[in-house]
Amino acid sequence: MKVTDVAIIGGGLAGSAAATILGRAGVDAVLIDPHRVYPVDFRCEKIGGWHLDAIRAAGLDDVVFGVTTFDGHGGIARYGHLLDVRPSDQHGAAYENLVNALRAAIPASVGFVEAKAMDIETGDDRQTITLNTGETISARLIVLANGLNFGVRERMGLRREVLSENHSVTIGFNAVRVGHRCFPPRSLTYFPERASSLVSYLTLFPIRDAMRANLMVYRPVDDPWLSRMRHTPIEAIKELMPRLTRITGEFEVEGPVKIRPASLWQTQGYLRSGIALIGDAFQTSCPAAGTGAGRAFNDVARLCNEYIPRWLATPGMAAEKIAQFYADPVKQDRDRFSLHKAFFLRDLSINTSPVWTARRLVRFAGYKGIGILRALQRRGEPQQSLFDGERHLPMSGHRAAER
Ligand SMILES: Cc1cc2nc3c(=O)[nH]c(=O)nc-3n(C[C@H](O)[C@H](O)[C@H](O)COP(=O)(O)OP(=O)(O)OC[C@H]3O[C@@H](n4cnc5c(N)ncnc54)[C@H](O)[C@@H]3O)c2cc1C
Repeated sequence: MKVTDVAIIGGGLAGSAAATILGRAGVDAVLIDPHRVYPVDFRCEKIGGWHLDAIRAAGLDDVVFGVTTFDGHGGIARYGHLLDVRPSDQHGAAYENLVNALRAAIPASVGFVEAKAMDIETGDDRQTITLNTGETISARLIVLANGLNFGVRERMGLRREVLSENHSVTIGFNAVRVGHRCFPPRSLTYFPERASSLVSYLTLFPIRDAMRANLMVYRPVDDPWLSRMRHTPIEAIKELMPRLTRITGEFEVEGPVKIRPASLWQTQGYLRSGIALIGDAFQTSCPAAGTGAGRAFNDVARLCNEYIPRWLATPGMAAEKIAQFYADPVKQDRDRFSLHKAFFLRDLSINTSPVWTARRLVRFAGYKGIGILRALQRRGEPQQSLFDGERHLPMSGHRAAER
């Protein structure tokens, strides 16, 4: 039996970040995951806003911004019109590159166990994990970061409360503009022209030399439009956003079109001695709302910087200790915000009641008004600051930071 202070189950975004922080702090820890290298996975491809604060709070900016591509400014458009071009702090990266960068930063003192956790027994002092290899690990604390895989939680008697089944569907592809090197402006969010199109938005953003697209829709998984999107993507996009190419110019889809539905659920009965759930293992997020990665980094920052060092300094790992993490005001605020934004955005995008129609009008009038003011302020500045392709070649996060 391997004996450690902290056993982290799951080496995705949350688990790999936790292993890096605990390793850097000199905590005796192991990371358990069935894949030594995180495989290609269509998940979060863009981080920005409060995510960046959570990443800095976790002390992981050096790692994360080394593999991301920074946009710097982005356009907002609807009905084929650019409403605003504003400063933007979005960073794009393929999910597996982000996770593997975090994995590469894990200090050598943290052991990696290439296996799947099958069963967990918890208690006030020590926890036991049984692996698919038949081996066992004994730890003072388990950090459960195994994402969407509910099997091990079910065997522990935890329950999944589904809040919204198939809440949204995310579609990802690479876009190549016909006849140009990249899209002006550097990134773009295009809103649908009608609520009945069941689209939240299309976002185009740079990842290295590629222009990546994430299209967020609210459609059932058996919707024939999704099949058209997979097989004839340009036609399917034009069906919903006929005036998009006024802004982007004609473009082609390069490589596979990835389509992934996401449901919202929370794990119930999570408060147990000796185990803390983080990231998607605790609660999932809507990709359209774009809060999942920020929540994962926030959980890790609060748990690993604030609580684990204190918990390890005194004997025992009873539920009273673990409850401190779940009661953390920053964590609670981010979790609540994430759920609220998921439902709010869905209504704001597709609810056709008079109230939500009015809210949509106010929103776009706001974008337009701010866009006009910003354009007036920019008068006199050279136009190529927005539309010169050469100056918009994708730039990595650290190169952007140097500027
Ligand atoms: C299509 C899509 C798009 C998204 N876009 C965005 C976005 O734009 N912005 C945003 O903020 N969020 C987005 N999200 C959400 C975000 O990706 C997740 O919230 C975040 O990645 C969760 O990280 P995690 O570490 O909790 O889980 P994961 O990254 O899924 O990690 C789970 C890990 O656990 C391992 N594991 C599973 N079972 C076991 C076991 N029994 N034993 C050991 N290891 C195990 C897995 O191998 C994996 O490595 C998106 C999600 C999806 C699906």
